[in-house]
Amino acid sequence: MQLKTILNRIQKFKSFVYRSIRWVEDAKVPTIEAELRSRTNSRPVCSGCSHKRPGYDRLPMRRFEFIPMWGIRVFFLYVPRRVDCPTCGIRVERMPWSEGKHRLTETYAWFLAGWARRLSWKEVAEAFRTTWDHVFCSVEMAVTWGQEKRDLSGIGAIGIDEIQWQRGHKYLTLVYQIDADCLRLLWIGKKRKVKTLLGFFRWFGKERTRELDYICSDMWKPYLRVIAKKAGHAIHILDRFHIMAKLRKAIDKVRAQEAKELKEKGYDPVLTKSRWLLLKRPENLTEEQETKLADLLQYNLKSIRSYLLKEEFQFFWSYKSPYWAGLFLDKWCTKTMRSKIEPMKDIARSLRKHRPLLLNWFRAKGQFSSGIVEGFNNKAKLTTRKAYGFRTYHAAEIALYHALGALPVPKMTHEFF
Ligand SMILES: [Zn+2]
Repeated sequence: MQLKTILNRIQKFKSFVYRSIRWVEDAKVPTIEAELRSRTNSRPVCSGCSHKRPGYDRLPMRRFEFIPMWGIRVFFLYVPRRVDCPTCGIRVERMPWSEGKHRLTETYAWFLAGWARRLSWKEVAEAFRTTWDHVFCSVEMAVTWGQEKRDLSGIGAIGIDEIQWQRGHKYLTLVYQIDADCLRLLWIGKKRKVKTLLGFFRWFGKERTRELDYICSDMWKPYLRVIAKKAGHAIHILDRFHIMAKLRKAIDKVRAQEAKELKEKGYDPVLTKSRWLLLKRPENLTEEQETKLADLLQYNLKSIRSYLLKEEFQFFWSYKSPYWAGLFLDKWCTKTMRSKIEPMKDIARSLRKHRPLLLNWFRAKGQFSSGIVEGFNNKAKLTTRKAYGFRTYHAAEIALYHALGALPVPKMTHEFF
């Protein structure tokens, strides 16, 4: 079987044919070049308007990289024609294997983008002996294509979340669709300000916003303000993941401060290595950790009392009726306000303030599993962390859409990936 036969099976173009295929003798890496020609009498298609137009002249020969095989690089060679288009002027013709000025064939770009879902961009570049830039351009192409083609109808529930990126206090606002049958990242915005989230609603449009039934978010004030203003009709839920995360943060603060105080007073450093004991759920502790926790619980420390308050608060989520959940919440808040532990009192204050939104969790019960936003949050953090090559916001944005956007991909006649 000839290579030309294989190429015709997997990558055939209507108005173009493969001519000679040759081994490049003096290449550093084994390389094959396949020459493409337009069919005799076929008229070139204008890349501007996609109409058949009379030919004008020819450009110098160009090379387009195709998927390598057996460690051999594969290139298409083609001499592009230019057309004389009454609408667009003198333009290069459209070539079905490549878009615009890209040096990679589209098939190869989709291939790289596919692998970039599984490996880091650096690893993809190494595995296929190409550059980071080529991988980036491929992913960018896939994301652009997918965003144009994605269906934004029927979105009933969204979750609004934030992640830190780069060092320091730089945030990204992420909006997910969290309907049971469709989970995906919809939108990314810089920072976490009122303006940021307003940007989402402007992009999303009034009509789609009207169809929203549920919105999950944390207690971040700018988000609350924008949601109330733009989507007051939807049931706004403060979700479990964000609230428990806030509680863990408060405990960490109490523990760190108390450990410092104890050390200054010359006490045993009982708290210095207990960070994870207090943050983990009890059922996730190892046996050794369990023993250590049992020891710790004997001390009447603020950290321990905070920990017990947090564990007690877990009961809140097991209620069925908003009424009883509300009573529990009020009791918990009163108790916490009397604890004299400032970071915990802060939490109680803010929970009291947002009581109706919190109880909305029970009004929407059964609609979402609490793990959805948390799962997305972890994946988003992993994506930005894994790719420390993302020096720019744009690259981070592309990587997140690629990893979490569940974007559509084109149907190809042959599956290369
Ligand atoms: Zn044209």
